[in-house]
Amino acid sequence: MLRRTALALFATAFAGPAFAQAYPNKPITIVVPFSAGGPTDVMARIVGERMGRELGQQMIIDNVTGAAGTIGVGKVARSAPDGYTIGIGHLGTNVVNGAIYKNLNYDLLGDLVPIALLPSNPLLVVTSNQVPAKDLKELVAYLKANPDKVSGGTAGMGSGSHIGVLAFFAATGTNYQLVPYRGTGPAAQDLMANQIQIMIDQSSNSLPHVRAGKIRAYAVTAKQRNAAAPDIPTTAEAGFPGIEVAIWHGLWAPKGTPPEIINKLNAAAVVALKDPEVRRRLEDLGQDIPTPEQMQPAAFTAYQKAEFAKWKPIIEKAGVKVE
Ligand code: ASP
Repeated sequence: MLRRTALALFATAFAGPAFAQAYPNKPITIVVPFSAGGPTDVMARIVGERMGRELGQQMIIDNVTGAAGTIGVGKVARSAPDGYTIGIGHLGTNVVNGAIYKNLNYDLLGDLVPIALLPSNPLLVVTSNQVPAKDLKELVAYLKANPDKVSGGTAGMGSGSHIGVLAFFAATGTNYQLVPYRGTGPAAQDLMANQIQIMIDQSSNSLPHVRAGKIRAYAVTAKQRNAAAPDIPTTAEAGFPGIEVAIWHGLWAPKGTPPEIINKLNAAAVVALKDPEVRRRLEDLGQDIPTPEQMQPAAFTAYQKAEFAKWKPIIEKAGVKVE
């Protein structure tokens, strides 16, 4: 009898505000659906470390990779809704994949609750230093003349780097072979070694290698040049308008996570993105930092839905799907 009461009390405490008040009392896992060292991982580590300091608990990074992030996002969707397992994702994993993958075993919009919108970065058109092109027009000509000599890296169908490729192919009339990786961190290593020749990759991943002279950048996929790389022309300036893609990030929790916990996590993310050192590190990688209002769970939910409505017809028109 006593045990039953204790169990019942435990259950109430777990579900109610008292549980949320005690939260967090142990480390929180952030599932990163791509390889260590890549753009999503870097975002999780920079923001997560500062969130952890705010919450008084360590944030543990768990890289659960494969199938353009769908494996990792699926793990978050099936985790206990107690605030101790959350996921980081981006436009690809949490919007575009919902239109591409016809057999997901979770509902991208229904099984995950938005916590906070995180920064957004454009993509850079980059090649290995072996590619003999001085600017984007020469690069496009080279790709058209050498379709068999060139292969490009992506983090799988529906990843940020793949969305970039789709826009690039459509605007330039090029087409090269794609090699899927578990993240663009390892793909960038292969690009430097000329195992692959081209990527359309997030600035946060490619810019440090461009600065080090290890790969070459031709254009940034944005309307305006990026403050972190003012010498790199926009795709329109370089002769090919219509390649404007920004990869925004976000944090999600499994459906059923108490709203008090979502709000605590959101508040910690807001504090993290106000921190001058965090901002400096992210801006140096070309990231655009959202306002606290844009980060709010309700605003982020609306934004994710709007992005889904925008991208679904684009993906369907492009005929990209995985059955
Ligand atoms: N964000 C992925 C990563 O972290 C790459 C991608 O989406 O293209 O590797």
